Amino acid sequence: MKTLYSQLPAIDSLLRDPALQPLLAQTGTAFTTHQLRAMQQEAREHIQQHQTLPAWHANWPQEALRRAARQQQSALRPVFNLTGTVLHTNLGRAQLSDRAIEAVVNCLRQPVTLEYALDEAARGHRDNAVSALLCELTGAEAACIVNNNAAAVLLMLAALAPGREVIVSRGELVEIGGAFRIPDVMRQAGCTLVEVGTTNRTHLKDYRAAIAENSGLLMKVHTSNYQIQGFTHAVTEAELVELGEAYQLPVITDLGSGSLIDMTGFGLPAEPMPQQLIAAGVSLVSFSGDKLLGGPQAGIIIGKKALIEQLQSHPLKRALRVDKMTLAALEATLQLYRQPETLREVLPTLRLLTRSSQDILQQAERVLPPLAQRYSADFSLAIAACSSQIGSGSLPVERIPSYAITFTPRDGRGSHLNHLSQRWRSLARPVIGRIQEGKLWLDLRCLDDETALIQALVA
Ligand SMILES: *Cc1c(COP(=O)(O)O)cnc(C)c1O
Repeated sequence: MKTLYSQLPAIDSLLRDPALQPLLAQTGTAFTTHQLRAMQQEAREHIQQHQTLPAWHANWPQEALRRAARQQQSALRPVFNLTGTVLHTNLGRAQLSDRAIEAVVNCLRQPVTLEYALDEAARGHRDNAVSALLCELTGAEAACIVNNNAAAVLLMLAALAPGREVIVSRGELVEIGGAFRIPDVMRQAGCTLVEVGTTNRTHLKDYRAAIAENSGLLMKVHTSNYQIQGFTHAVTEAELVELGEAYQLPVITDLGSGSLIDMTGFGLPAEPMPQQLIAAGVSLVSFSGDKLLGGPQAGIIIGKKALIEQLQSHPLKRALRVDKMTLAALEATLQLYRQPETLREVLPTLRLLTRSSQDILQQAERVLPPLAQRYSADFSLAIAACSSQIGSGSLPVERIPSYAITFTPRDGRGSHLNHLSQRWRSLARPVIGRIQEGKLWLDLRCLDDETALIQALVA
């Protein structure tokens, strides 16, 4: 044992080792020393537990370089999203358009008029540019931008109905993954939730009966990640607006995804559009920037000027406001919507969602042969029809026809699939598929660079 410990090299001598000089030049003495100390500690623990030296003892500089390379990788690694979910929350949702990316880079390199009105050489408001665009595109009177749609809902409730009752249908008490649940957000905002109707059916008279002295808002929540089917009834926004007007109660809607264009025009399932709700008279509508809109993470609130002003002057707005990168990306994304006929080409989210299954099949036929050559000893590969989904709770039950390359272990053992997917996840650019029905599926809907994928999987 003692002799094993004494074989561990001293940090000083390692730092003088010519093989370590490139690492020292690249990362400095402090980082390298820290790295070597950690290795020394690990080696001691290894000796204590196994009474042997760790395998990497044979080449300390090489191991230090390997570890440093791994530690310097970004925690946000680009991946191949072959899960079949286009707006994958865990993979960063929308891929931004080139215009949005350029806008972000631009606003990072030099000072910008974030809160500066050039006409008056005075203080402007950071939401102004984007607000004007949103009003132009949706017909709303004003807009307010916050960090995400969850923040938008919180701000609407906290600013408009603190200490008051908010009336919501039982069928719309949504949970959106993580800790976002309508009843909890209500509590956080200091509002009292008043549930009306039943899970499957809520009528206008239910809302009317619940209106009382302390009512503050009528609220609709888009049931974006589930669907209640069968014997159902929900009150439309327009009906609710009429009721709200009679009792002077604003109607707010959490739309979740929302789409500024008619998705059916692109052969996709219908999704409610914020501008329709504004036209129906809803006071405030909130939706996400990085769902179907195809922009950066943001919460967008549009609606009546007087109410938006209340949001803008609430202290929470300061805590939830977005930075210049988000505003730049959002502005550039919204500008693309001025020209809906080119949207499919310039907005990656829409391009990926509208790729024809024929196009994906042809790509699968090109990608299959090189992969088969590499993997067919252990797996049988095939092209199979599959269904992509939009993701992020948008249009949950709708599926878009697509094609996948499937890998089935020749000996039928599922452990091979886990092993394979694990190996692909450890690649320089990880490949993320899904395991289902005893196969590993690579849905090619979101595959932009097939050459890079082949290279990654065949190397
Ligand atoms: C997605 C969603 C949210 C949360 O939006 P984020 O932008 O992810 O914060 C809230 N409500 C509904 C109905 C949603 O679909």
